[in-house]
Amino acid sequence: MKLVLASGNRGKLREFREAFGPELASVSELMEPIDIVEDAESFAGNALLKARAIYDRLGPGHLVIADDSGISVPLLGGTPGIYSARYAGEAADDKANLQKLIAELKKKGVHRTPAYYTAAIAIVGEKGEYVVHGWMHGEVIDEARGEKGFGYDPIFIPEGYDKTLGELEESIKAEISHRAKAIKLARPLIEMLRK
Ligand code: IMP
Repeated sequence: MKLVLASGNRGKLREFREAFGPELASVSELMEPIDIVEDAESFAGNALLKARAIYDRLGPGHLVIADDSGISVPLLGGTPGIYSARYAGEAADDKANLQKLIAELKKKGVHRTPAYYTAAIAIVGEKGEYVVHGWMHGEVIDEARGEKGFGYDPIFIPEGYDKTLGELEESIKAEISHRAKAIKLARPLIEMLRK
């Protein structure tokens, strides 16, 4: 059973290879890119859409893993949520999305408010479809601090810490992150399904 990550993103591939071994292939090594419309209404739905679309192309003999993630701020009605990657517009980059979230917090006049990251990992293969989740709770602040991590990390302070993920060592994030927790749950499933 060939294990395939439904993402060409180098950062994600590195994180997933650390968990599942160097034999994990990236979809970009196996086929031409295809357009996948991520129009589901949940992280799980979008992760499944990605994994299914790739499995449909590659077929039996493959076990496909896809992830979808984002940050939610209850004070802002749960946004950006599943729209985290395109919060400031379809072509927006991480920096524009971060600035938009800071601007929305400033509009509300709060310096810090609860927030959480969600990661959904979908696994699709011959034996069916599975989804696991991981969460990281904390707060967001209205100014960026630190250069580490990516995306919304410079404004996110995890529960139990007083620094942002932009300031904390990456080894700390690797232990407590939403993705790390989801990967931990995905591991035994993948071991079972790849046999
Ligand atoms: P995806 O790659 O389509 O799942 O998009 C996830 C988006 O959510 C990214 O563009 C980031 O903006 C945000 N995001 C997800 N996980 C993290 C994280 O660990 N740190 C910072 N931002 C994240």
